[in-house]
Amino acid sequence: MLMKLHWFSRAEDRLDAWVTRQHQERVLDGRTAPIGPCPDETFLESVARQSKQIALSDPRVDHAANCPVCMRRLLELRSQHQSRRRRLVFTAAVGCCLLIVAAFAVVSWHGTNTPHSVDNMAAIPETIDLSNAGTLRGLPSNPAEPSPLQSVSLPAALVKVTIILPRFSRPGQYMVAVTHDQSVNDPLAHGAAAANGGGDREEVSVDLDLRKSKPGAYFLSTTHEQDQASYYYPLQIK
Ligand SMILES: [Zn+2]
Repeated sequence: MLMKLHWFSRAEDRLDAWVTRQHQERVLDGRTAPIGPCPDETFLESVARQSKQIALSDPRVDHAANCPVCMRRLLELRSQHQSRRRRLVFTAAVGCCLLIVAAFAVVSWHGTNTPHSVDNMAAIPETIDLSNAGTLRGLPSNPAEPSPLQSVSLPAALVKVTIILPRFSRPGQYMVAVTHDQSVNDPLAHGAAAANGGGDREEVSVDLDLRKSKPGAYFLSTTHEQDQASYYYPLQIK
């Protein structure tokens, strides 16, 4: 049932996105007639940020939606705003990781006399080879397009995952997360690390605590610190 609803809403999103794209093309080609003068930059910025102070009945909204100049500027502002927001999410996730690491360090420092602590359990090494994997690229504005996928699996345990990144991946810091769906908002587990390697092969190693995860279908996501989007790979937890 949930699955069905999910597919239904995705189909609706797709239709919305298609209608929006058709309209944008008409506007950008100058096939619409905007009424009134162009509003100022501050107003366009508020629209791009989807500020609640903007009333949709405002005639300036109607103008911007039909004016090629305003539309072009709005699209620019919106993509700037979105990449800023993604950077914030990434920074928050890394900050959260650092806090967890710090808390873990304090706990294990205080707990050195308790050798039975579960947290001292060794992580199981696992390697995931994504060098030839297809991806689902999650972009909020575009519905994800299905592509040929190769499913990967991990045990419901404390794992040290080494991911061989898809060919031509960039070096730098990556966030790796296990998620319920194609968003990194509420991950089951996540970790961040710098990729190492070189040439056309980069790999990244992170610890993921999947001990509390139920077996089932999830997504493994990778996000480069400077990238616009996360990549998602279907993941089975066994
Ligand atoms: Zn205008």
